[in-house]
Amino acid sequence: MRLILLGPPGVGKGTQAEKICSKFSIPHISTGEILREAVKNKTEVGLQAKVYMDRGELVPDSVVIQLVKSRILQPDSSSGFLLDGFPRTVAQAHALDCQLDTLEKPITVVIQLDAGEDEIVKRLTGRRMCPECGKGYHIAFLKPTKDGVCDQCNADLIQRFDDSEATVRRRLAVYLEKTHDLIDYYKRQNKLLTIDAGREIEIITEDIIKKLSVIS
Ligand code: AMP
Repeated sequence: MRLILLGPPGVGKGTQAEKICSKFSIPHISTGEILREAVKNKTEVGLQAKVYMDRGELVPDSVVIQLVKSRILQPDSSSGFLLDGFPRTVAQAHALDCQLDTLEKPITVVIQLDAGEDEIVKRLTGRRMCPECGKGYHIAFLKPTKDGVCDQCNADLIQRFDDSEATVRRRLAVYLEKTHDLIDYYKRQNKLLTIDAGREIEIITEDIIKKLSVIS
């Protein structure tokens, strides 16, 4: 199963991605994660991407497309994958389709997580993550067992630098401006599965898995 998870920042893509990937045994490919790792390791891509990420803007298509192209050619992606945070522009979607057409492995379904702006701001400002393993938490919806500490590696949780209110608003504006066109792109391909993401995490997961199980 080759899946794309679409939705504004903070809608719960990372949380749902983890659950879907574990259910269908496919790798979770998050461009945000790959880029943050590159920034942390000060690679050439990381140095290029950091300027844009700090401003809450999109990293240039050419950089991100290249990253994803090589990632989906890795052996663990041969029987499927879930793309989280990619594509974000029609140019990225088109480049992805071209590569997958050549491989004769088209996208199966595009899951669109849909929620109102107030809900999104509430979720983003309460979001925390582990700087060691990248696991995500939320101060209200997805608490760690011990306040402020990662369940997996015991590290102190941090707030992502781009989850500050000003950057959050910028990221939402960027999403609405650029990523919105993707919804139409995939609607035209008849691949869009829209999910109401304003519900409890477990209910959303159940809904997605039930609908995907019918398709697979
Ligand atoms: P995310 O964790 O998906 O919210 O991504 C964090 C940041 O990484 C974004 O605000 C962008 O600066 C950058 N980024 C992630 N994925 C992409 C993409 N597909 N295209 C361009 N920039 C991206």
